[in-house]
Amino acid sequence: MNSPTGRDRPRVVILGAGFAGLRLARSLRGTAVDVVVIDRQNHHLFQPLLYQVATAGLAAPDIAAPIRRVLRRNKSLRVIYGEVTKLEPDKKRVWLGDEALSYDILAIATGAGHSYFGRDEWAEFAPGLKTLRDAQDIRSRILRAFEAAERIEVEAERGPWLRFAVVGAGPTGVELAGALAELARKILPGDFRRFDSGMTEVLLIEGGPRVLSAYPEDLSQSAERQLEKLGVTVRCDARVTMIDADGISINEGERIAARTTIWAAGVQVSPILEGLGCPLDRAGRAHVSPDLSLQGQPDIYVLGDAAHVEEAGKQVPGVAPAAMQMGKHAAQSIRRRLAGKQSRPFRYRDKGSMATIGRASAVAEIGRLHLRGYAAWLAWLFVHLIFLVGFRSRIVVLINWAWAYIGYRPAARVLAELAEDGQAEAPPEKL
Ligand SMILES: Cc1cc2nc3c(=O)[nH]c(=O)nc-3n(C[C@H](O)[C@H](O)[C@H](O)COP(=O)(O)OP(=O)(O)OC[C@H]3O[C@@H](n4cnc5c(N)ncnc54)[C@H](O)[C@@H]3O)c2cc1C
Repeated sequence: MNSPTGRDRPRVVILGAGFAGLRLARSLRGTAVDVVVIDRQNHHLFQPLLYQVATAGLAAPDIAAPIRRVLRRNKSLRVIYGEVTKLEPDKKRVWLGDEALSYDILAIATGAGHSYFGRDEWAEFAPGLKTLRDAQDIRSRILRAFEAAERIEVEAERGPWLRFAVVGAGPTGVELAGALAELARKILPGDFRRFDSGMTEVLLIEGGPRVLSAYPEDLSQSAERQLEKLGVTVRCDARVTMIDADGISINEGERIAARTTIWAAGVQVSPILEGLGCPLDRAGRAHVSPDLSLQGQPDIYVLGDAAHVEEAGKQVPGVAPAAMQMGKHAAQSIRRRLAGKQSRPFRYRDKGSMATIGRASAVAEIGRLHLRGYAAWLAWLFVHLIFLVGFRSRIVVLINWAWAYIGYRPAARVLAELAEDGQAEAPPEKL
């Protein structure tokens, strides 16, 4: 290999230490390459449990692990904490601000963020859930809304603070709405004097005709019933036309007064992929070749949520198992290339999908098996605990979780005394 890095061993640069990047980095251990992993967060994040941090069920360290620590055993691997701002494929280098780094092989696994469908001004009023910071922001808004309601003397004015709107009924929206309803109805009762938290309204707003549209119809219907049993009001065929600090508007001008809105709709991949000069889909994902490299640019792989991969005309879903499988496959492709062998096409092994709705309620599709309620929830719990490997400690998380989650105990409901800028965190809006 003619190396632009001028090194004996090829340098593999991995952008992003999410599920795909981390699996690739781990799988390259023992391969004759130097690996550089770059991430703008210093931690790998277990996104499937982010909603638990957002709804005050778990604390942030329970679902995040320092990348250096996770990858410490591979001595030919270096971690850089920084943001890649530009790609320069013709010169085989990436830029971190004004600092360039050359590569022989590049793997882009930068994941996906939110799309507000061209209405970015809504982000201020309806944060999305992707990072730990997002989860902490949402948790703070939720807890502060209850605090604000407690300070209001006139009952009629309390409503908008005790009404929560979640936009988008995919797995994240369903999980958030279910957990919020449980927080209000099962955990908070007794904490406030001026209102009964059990009267809190949680609305799940979906533009399409059903919740969990990627799931079979019977599981969608079951999910909707389970949500309603928890006290969530599901509104399907409701298109959001406006979001501001006081609430949201849907369809032809219907107005819902809600001081807390959470965005769980729309996916957009990082704009840095635009610098690759390859075809992108509507969400900005790169269309890749069967071996996950870019057409005409065999030194560049795109993995995980950033990649558009199709199998038998169906798009491989943006889920953690798919990202991990892609990371593993890219490592095999790199090894085969270095050995002068032809790479093999990626095959996605679908191990099923599951969405949790609350304690003891979920839906799961595992092959032909459709599970609902408690059985689905047990399957979900088992899978998530297995995958928490490498995090703070499975046992510590399990104990915290069991205490907080199964026993309905307060776990992560403390609002920070100081905000990041050192200023005291503002009390709820002056009433
Ligand atoms: C709230 C939520 C819940 C989810 N629940 C589930 C679930 O229950 N089951 C499931 O299978 N999947 C779930 N998913 C989807 C799953 O998390 C993703 O499919 C998976 O994380 C994709 O892995 P990835 O490696 O492609 O990207 P990510 O895991 O998102 O990792 C991308 C990494 O790239 C870094 N990065 C991005 N841009 C840059 C840059 N310019 N420079 C440096 N670093 C950068 C980020 O900091 C991040 O660490 C959920 C996702 C979310 C947001």
